[in-house]
Amino acid sequence: LPEYAFIGRSNVGKSSLINMLTNRKSLAKTSGRPGKTQLINHFIINNNWFLVDLPGYGYARVSKTSKKKFQKFITNYFEQRTQLVSAFVLVDIRHKPQPIDLEFMQYLGESGIPFGIIFTKVDKLKPKAIDRHVQEYCEELLKTWEELPPYFITSSSKKIGQEEVLSFIEETNNEIEALRNN
Ligand code: GDP
Repeated sequence: LPEYAFIGRSNVGKSSLINMLTNRKSLAKTSGRPGKTQLINHFIINNNWFLVDLPGYGYARVSKTSKKKFQKFITNYFEQRTQLVSAFVLVDIRHKPQPIDLEFMQYLGESGIPFGIIFTKVDKLKPKAIDRHVQEYCEELLKTWEELPPYFITSSSKKIGQEEVLSFIEETNNEIEALRNN
């Protein structure tokens, strides 16, 4: 089954978003890799794709060795998942583009992994400010990228953006299916 991985800085709102997307009804399936079960969670959605919950990054108070270990863990994941269709990098709409997120997107790009951006917690800003922050983010991305990745405006507390993210995934799955049948 196609997989979509969700990742972002700790506290970005990933668990809340996943709860919103899954309505907490889906079956949780833990990773088959021994020793890693507490780190990666798989949720099967509509019986036709896996939502992969990757651990948060950017903890301020961890040692260099744990940072290295974490990087290795994440790169191992991305190198090994043949079913991975796309990653979603979660970004708190309130913050200016953060080097750690931009570097992570750079890594995905260089590894040939398609990704989208999910802006979280948009209920915390007024519509005009949302537009401005998204605009600023896009301008920053266009300094290094030729085109913008797909992006989504979401709020888990106000249930905003659920439909958009889920339809994007469904449509992508349909395209994959169509290609396979050709
Ligand atoms: P995670 O560490 O990335 O999994 O983040 P959580 O989902 O645990 O959320 C971190 C904090 O942000 C919690 O206090 C949430 O209540 C809050 N939060 C998450 N999503 C939203 C949102 O859409 N709107 C608002 N206002 N708060 C949110």
